[in-house]
Amino acid sequence: MLLKNLKELQSSKTSKALKLKSLYKLVAENGPIKTETLTELAQMKPATCARLLDELNALQLITTAELGESTGGRKPILYNINTEGVFLIGIELSKVYSTIVLMDLKLNMLDKIKISPEPYLSAYEMTDKLLPKIDALLFKNNISYEKVLGLGISIEHVVEHQLASKSLNEEFSELEALLRKKIPTYVTVGSGVHFAALAEFRLYYRQKTQRFLFTSCDTEVRGCAIIGNQFLTDTSATMNCFGHMTIDVKGLLCECGSYGCLNTLCSLDAIKNSIIHQIRRGKHSLLTSLVSTDDEINYHTIFQAIEMRDPLCIDALEEAAYYYGLAIANTILMLQPDIVVCGGTLIPKYTFFDTVKKTIETKLALFPNIKTEVYPASHAYEIVSQGAGAMVLEHLVN
Ligand SMILES: [Zn+2]
Repeated sequence: MLLKNLKELQSSKTSKALKLKSLYKLVAENGPIKTETLTELAQMKPATCARLLDELNALQLITTAELGESTGGRKPILYNINTEGVFLIGIELSKVYSTIVLMDLKLNMLDKIKISPEPYLSAYEMTDKLLPKIDALLFKNNISYEKVLGLGISIEHVVEHQLASKSLNEEFSELEALLRKKIPTYVTVGSGVHFAALAEFRLYYRQKTQRFLFTSCDTEVRGCAIIGNQFLTDTSATMNCFGHMTIDVKGLLCECGSYGCLNTLCSLDAIKNSIIHQIRRGKHSLLTSLVSTDDEINYHTIFQAIEMRDPLCIDALEEAAYYYGLAIANTILMLQPDIVVCGGTLIPKYTFFDTVKKTIETKLALFPNIKTEVYPASHAYEIVSQGAGAMVLEHLVN
């Protein structure tokens, strides 16, 4: 019933439906919320707002709860979205970590399964691999597809650097079309950095700021700003330009054709290449005890060596953190966000985040009017999948 009403609201384009959607969006983003606050946020007349809330309530799209004791008269009512019996699925596929997450409409994680990271797969192979896993997750939780509002999936980390024959955009739409054919629910394929930015913002920072920047440092460095509740850049564009800002004009050649892009200095591949290069030049590293040839050196063995406090790997990590920090500081000078959140695989490694933060603070010390706060991503591991679910909700109300 709830899912049917949600879908009807989604497809309706009447002016009343638009008002209902915008009010539903406000309840979803801010609930539990009082009528007065909601009326203010919606910039509606109290009577109009109350009438639309009654309608959302009658459609069972929202729930009401009385709040504590009132000082006389009616008790204040708190509105929230109804999450009963409707679910979202978010999927992140990456070279390092892949997972399928089942969520409620509030993006609370209900269950998840990890999938082994894959090298490059075609859209067909990916669909064949994913479908039984999604079925298994739903079956385990006794949920059918009829109760799933939609599925969001991020694949950019799997297809990047494999662009010889097709563009990333083509890969995205091919997978989206295939999954839509096989799965009886809304499917969106998108970019992990947008998903992660949206989830971090919605779950933790919405109340604090309207100027928000999310960046992540992984196999590529990416960035995404949300200003005034809107993405600053087009979320359908799959190419992320953040990693191609020039940091060192005398640096290495980047795949884009320029020299010294951020990606060549602090991505996982940049760290790996620098470590292998130094080992080949005869520098000592504990890594050599973990592998039999340098061809076996990968992200996982490097992380293992970092845990063993290998000086060579730690130096490479610290240098990457310095360049990443500089790039963020440059972006802060331009965008002046209130809050920057740094995500990705490297953030929890040894002192990576501390060095990033220190580099930013040193650079910004000369600009005391800029009071940007920098935080590590809260739940670095599932945030992309949660954001994929959030993207399904955005589709519902926009
Ligand atoms: Zn580049």
